[in-house]
Amino acid sequence: MTDDAVVDLADVAFGYTATPVVEEISLRVESGEYVAIVGPNGSGKSTLMKLMLGLLRPDSGTARLFAEPAHEFDEGSRLGYVAQHASASKEMPITVREVVKMGRFPHVGFGRLSESDWERVDEALDTVGMTAFANRRVTQLSGGQRQRAFIARALASEADLLVLDEPTVGVDAESVDAFYELLNSLNEQGITVLLIEHDLSAVTNHAERVICLNKQIYFDGPTDEFVDSDALARAFGTAAGIVGGGR
Ligand code: ADP
Repeated sequence: MTDDAVVDLADVAFGYTATPVVEEISLRVESGEYVAIVGPNGSGKSTLMKLMLGLLRPDSGTARLFAEPAHEFDEGSRLGYVAQHASASKEMPITVREVVKMGRFPHVGFGRLSESDWERVDEALDTVGMTAFANRRVTQLSGGQRQRAFIARALASEADLLVLDEPTVGVDAESVDAFYELLNSLNEQGITVLLIEHDLSAVTNHAERVICLNKQIYFDGPTDEFVDSDALARAFGTAAGIVGGGR
């Protein structure tokens, strides 16, 4: 245990109404980890992510992000968030390079990007394999390419935490594999990866730690232990048959 946990939730409960959606949630994510959050639809995964990011405040318990109260955290550039359905959203008709350039804004304020800022942008495009698409409008990309553009924006901002909410929904199987290879290599470079994923085969193939949620935490530990445990059956109930269903 160190004090440099990226995420630290202690006995968190939250409900949109009087009924809690998540409760008794205690977990820490250390720098450099690759963690997947799984659970059935409506089990509170997105809510948990928002609590971690300080977008929602716990009804009870505490949520800390980079050692600060999560809702007070304001170093946006440390955090890259790839939203659910980003691949399907109607983005503004700007180019991939313009999206990635936004990642530099927290560093330059309202000033102009310097040569080294642009180098960062180009490096980020290269890392995600999108250099050839730099001048293409985001609206003209496939779902997988769009997700890469958003990851490049996070890289350009020098984020050390990547948070992804079902990033590969609607992305074709081949691009999904390439996408996970990209996440793996970013994690190997030291970026903490926090992922909500409904595709359990992707999780078991890639994440090193699984948090299985259904209102409460049913399992939190190494992926191989998760696969051998009955947590999934307990959390998913009769829907456990979807294991390995994936795509
Ligand atoms: P998951 O991401 O696992 O599908 P969510 O965190 O989105 O689960 O939702 C958990 C529960 O909270 C669901 O019952 C959902 O209907 C409810 N919920 C989610 N967002 C809201 C909201 N903004 N207002 C009210 N209820 C919500």
